Amino acid sequence: MKFNPAENIQDLQYFGEFGGVNPSISDSSTYTFLSAKTMFDTFEGNADGCYLYSRHSTPSNLYLGEALAAMEGSETANVTASGMGAITSVLLQLCSSGDHIISSRTIYGGTYAFLKNFTPKFGIATSFIDITNLDVVEASITENTKVLYCEAVSNPLLEVADIKGLSALAKKYNLKLVVDNSFSPLSISPAKLGADVVCHSLTKFINGSSDTVGGVVCGTKEFINALRNVNDGASMLLGVTMDSLRAASILKNMRTLHIRIKQHSKNAIFLADKFEADGLKTVYPGLKSHPSNSLYKQMMNVEYGFGGMLTIDVGSLQKANELMELMQQRNLGYLAVSLGFYKTLFSAPGSSTSSEIPEKEQKEMGLSDGLIRFSIGLDNNIERTYKMMKKCMEDVNVL
Ligand code: PLP
Repeated sequence: MKFNPAENIQDLQYFGEFGGVNPSISDSSTYTFLSAKTMFDTFEGNADGCYLYSRHSTPSNLYLGEALAAMEGSETANVTASGMGAITSVLLQLCSSGDHIISSRTIYGGTYAFLKNFTPKFGIATSFIDITNLDVVEASITENTKVLYCEAVSNPLLEVADIKGLSALAKKYNLKLVVDNSFSPLSISPAKLGADVVCHSLTKFINGSSDTVGGVVCGTKEFINALRNVNDGASMLLGVTMDSLRAASILKNMRTLHIRIKQHSKNAIFLADKFEADGLKTVYPGLKSHPSNSLYKQMMNVEYGFGGMLTIDVGSLQKANELMELMQQRNLGYLAVSLGFYKTLFSAPGSSTSSEIPEKEQKEMGLSDGLIRFSIGLDNNIERTYKMMKKCMEDVNVL
C-alpha cells in the first residue's frame, strides 16, 4: 500500500483516561512506583511502560511522538523543546571528538552556527558543501566522517536534497543520513527515501499557530532509546525535553496539518506562477524553472504539493525592506521570521535567519541581499492577495 503520512496520523486512536476524545495531559514531573525494584529496573531501561521522570519521557510526549513517527514512517520518535534541541542532540549523540560531519552549506542559520562555532569546541569538524552535487558529497567523505546532514528543502534557498542518492552514499560509507524536514512535512517523507534520522522544528508548519517552539527526532527504537539513555543519552542529559502541556497542544494542531499544507501549497504555487510571469526572480520547488523540480516530483507525496515556502529577489536589501514594510502596513502578512502561520510571514534571510552565515559565504551560496523569504499563509482568496501584493511591488518600484 502506498505510504500516506496523513492517513497514518488519522489511523491512530487515543482516549483519555475518562474516555475523553483527547488523551489526558500528564501533569507530573515525577512518577510513583509500587515497588523499589521496578524503579531500579526503569533506571536500567528494563521496565517498558513505566514512567520515571518527565525529562526522560511523559505519556503526553509519547502520544505526540507516536503521531510524528506515524507521519514520517519511522519506528518511533522523541519530542524536544525546540527544533534546535532535536538537531543538536542528534548530532552530539552520533558524533564524538575527532569525528567529521558533511553538511549542506544552505541550512538554517542556527544549525550552521552550531556546526561552525559550537561543535568544534568538542573536536567535531564540519565541511559545508553543495549537497545537490553527489560527486562533491562523495569527494568530501573522509575516514572520520560519521554524518551526512541536510534539509530536505533548504532554508532559505529552497534547494532540494536528493535523499535517495544521499542515502546510497551513506550506506556505502557506513554514515548516518540526518535530514531536517521542517520545510516539507507530509510533502516529503525522508525516512521512506532512506534517511536514518528525520528532525523537525515543530515550531513551523506542524504546530502551525506560531505559539510555541518544539522539535522532534524520528528514528529507530534503538537510536531513540540511546538518546533517552540516563547514562549517556544526549536528549536526557542535555535536558532538551518538551513540556507535556505543549505536547498535548501540538498534537491537537497536528490533526489539521494535511488540510493546512494543501492550502499553503495551493496558495504558494499560485503566487510563484504569478510572480515569475511578472518577471520577478522567483524560486519555488513547484516551478519548472527550479533546478530540482523533477527531483522533487520523484520524491513527493503528490497530494500535499510543493509546500508553502517561496523566495523572490528584489535586487537590494533596501528594496526588500521597503516592500516588506508596505506589505505589512497593508495587512498582507507580517514582517517576521519563522514559518507555517495562517498569515503570510516574510523576512530577508541575509540580515535575519541566516545572518550567522558570514557575508562572503552567503554570496558563494547565492544568498543575495534582496532575497525575501515568504511563508505563504492560508488566505482563502489568494487572487485578491496577489493583486494587493502586486500593487505593493509596483508602489516600491520592484515591478
Ligand atoms: N530547522 C529549520 C529548517 C529552521 O528553519 C529552524 C528555525 O527557524 C530550525 C530548524 C530550528 O527550530 P527551532 O526554532 O524550533 O529551534
